[in-house]
Amino acid sequence: MSRLEQTVGRYRNLRCTAIADELPQLLAHAEANAASYLDFAEQLAEREQQVREHKRLDGNRRRARLPAGKRLEAFDYRHQTTITKRQVNALLDFGFIDNRQNLVFIGPPGVGKTHLAVGIADKALDAGYKVLFRNALELVEELEIAEMKGELKKKIAQLTRFDLLLIDELGYLPMSRQARYNLFQLVHAFYEYRSLILTTNKDFTDWGEFFHNDNVAVPIIDRVIHHSSIYMLGGESYRLKEKTAG
Ligand code: ADP
Ligand code: MG
Repeated sequence: MSRLEQTVGRYRNLRCTAIADELPQLLAHAEANAASYLDFAEQLAEREQQVREHKRLDGNRRRARLPAGKRLEAFDYRHQTTITKRQVNALLDFGFIDNRQNLVFIGPPGVGKTHLAVGIADKALDAGYKVLFRNALELVEELEIAEMKGELKKKIAQLTRFDLLLIDELGYLPMSRQARYNLFQLVHAFYEYRSLILTTNKDFTDWGEFFHNDNVAVPIIDRVIHHSSIYMLGGESYRLKEKTAG
């Protein structure tokens, strides 16, 4: 085995995979540029860090399970005029995540609630935050399964490892008492600790009714509202527009 191969093997044992993979090129580059020892040492560290950061972001993106095709760049503010680009851009410093605040998008179907929420979550992934997307029914089902196994606490603890949980389409269908209780436990765990983005067709004034005015619902709503920016979206459904235009 050559010295180069041995050295590559050492880097691999030290889990410096990027250096191990690229050592011949890194050496050639340093030689070609007459790099100083310090330059070279720096380049090795830099490359390893870069590749690890990329892998971390890729892993976060895979785990987030964002629906495809909802980039903010594709959002048309000429169609959706009840929120401005400036308002959305103001969220992209992610102060709301750092301050454990929530976003709530309320409005009728097709006005872009999911698109905006997913677009913001996509940028949060780019910025290095850990994000998870769940449809509300999917999430309720997951919590129910965990609860039946006696693992609700564990499941919620797993969810709180994400910086941001996007719950899409909350309130579209009625839920059982147990489902509402599970959801309450989740919101309670996130309160002042992690951030939520909710999309819903329910105005908050309807929510008491939706939750059968039950004494679990009231604190859920209070907690969500207390630390939320709320965006009421209106206008015509974009789906209808696409249909009539096509
Ligand atoms: P909602 O969640 O409010 O029901 P969606 O975000 O799912 O609506 O939007 C419905 C469809 O229309 C999606 O394919 C979405 O990408 C698209 N859409 C909605 N609003 C806009 C917009 N202002 N610009 C571009 N696409 C939009
Ligand atoms: Mg939606």
